[in-house]
Amino acid sequence: MTVTLDLSRRNNALPGKKRLTGLSVPALKKEMEALGLEPKAANMRARQIRRWIHHFGATDFAAMTDIAKDLRAQLAERFEVERPETADHQVSRDGTQKWLTRYAPGIEGESVYIPDVGKAGALCVSSQVGCTLNCTFCHTGTQALVRNLTAQEIVQQVIIARDALSEWPSSIEERRLTNIVFMGMGEPLYNLDNVAEAIDTISDGDGISIGRRRITVSTAGVAPKIPELGARTGAMLAISLHATNDDLRNELVPLNRKYDIQTLFEAIRAYPDLGNSKRVTFEYVMLKGVNDTLAEARDLVKLMKGVPSKINLIPFNPWPGSPYECSDWETIEAFAEVLNRAGFASPIRTPRGRDILAACGQLRSESVKVRASELRKQQLAAEDSKGQT
Ligand code: SAH
Repeated sequence: MTVTLDLSRRNNALPGKKRLTGLSVPALKKEMEALGLEPKAANMRARQIRRWIHHFGATDFAAMTDIAKDLRAQLAERFEVERPETADHQVSRDGTQKWLTRYAPGIEGESVYIPDVGKAGALCVSSQVGCTLNCTFCHTGTQALVRNLTAQEIVQQVIIARDALSEWPSSIEERRLTNIVFMGMGEPLYNLDNVAEAIDTISDGDGISIGRRRITVSTAGVAPKIPELGARTGAMLAISLHATNDDLRNELVPLNRKYDIQTLFEAIRAYPDLGNSKRVTFEYVMLKGVNDTLAEARDLVKLMKGVPSKINLIPFNPWPGSPYECSDWETIEAFAEVLNRAGFASPIRTPRGRDILAACGQLRSESVKVRASELRKQQLAAEDSKGQT
């Protein structure tokens, strides 16, 4: 079965039409019930539609040939299966691709496809527009939070990447997009309900079909939510550690003031099913003269003891106005050597997509939070100027 995709389409939803693209099966079922279908029929239709959208990548109800024509017509009147608008799409010299997706006016989020990561390639998705955490080395932290992304919007990021890579249906061999990492903008554990629902949809074997073990959720350390993440999603866990003592971590990752390193590690140890085949990934950004001494490498070994884990050393990616420099290459290698000798895999992550500001911590959309009071002021000003003409 082939489905022709018209990639030139834009966000051309007709007013009043609800978009089904990226919705979970329970959400689709609700929409079918609202159409007047009995629960059983609604469930069946929801599953059929899910297969068309998320397995075949359909963008049109006309393709859904196992649904009666009159029902298809009825569906097309109320709903559409388009993608949100791609406000920007850049391809790096190294094959990395970055999308800026416009969900609504002023609400934009980024996703990055990185070849040769995971089994074949990984999509780094955002869970929020902006971020509230203010980690000092991260560009996204300089952007005010606009809002959480919905489960549907998170899944749409995967669909947009699949479109660009021409990877429909899900059953094609040699997929290039095999892994999902929640390492884009935002703190996934501050938006766990939507992240969990999105993971259900992404891992659905009759839909997008990217297995839970190929999905990694990264957190700056929202300790109380860590075991819950594992129980609800079965995903792999990554922790943005970056420092081995509370004084420095308080500075780099201010969330540490709320959940210190000890509290964080207690939560990590409670992550379900940890073992050789399910290891935690620790991320450690290498900041010159800040966190890169060999003594810190040894402290890291002590912290990780007894936790099935590996560590990703991330060379710091600079961004306009960033207050840090990346550690020297020899320093990073010596740091990695200490970890390797202690028996921990510690790959140094090659920076990807730096030329298009798509590397870790460089994501930042132009979305800004407009305060309600500011909005009111603008409205009053607009009303005023109308009154004067
Ligand atoms: N809020 C979650 C998800 C974001 S993941 C978390 O903190 O884990 C983004 C990853 O990139 C994190 O490990 C983050 O610490 C790292 N990062 C942020 N800015 C960076 C930069 N400038 N250079 C390299 N890595 C960076």
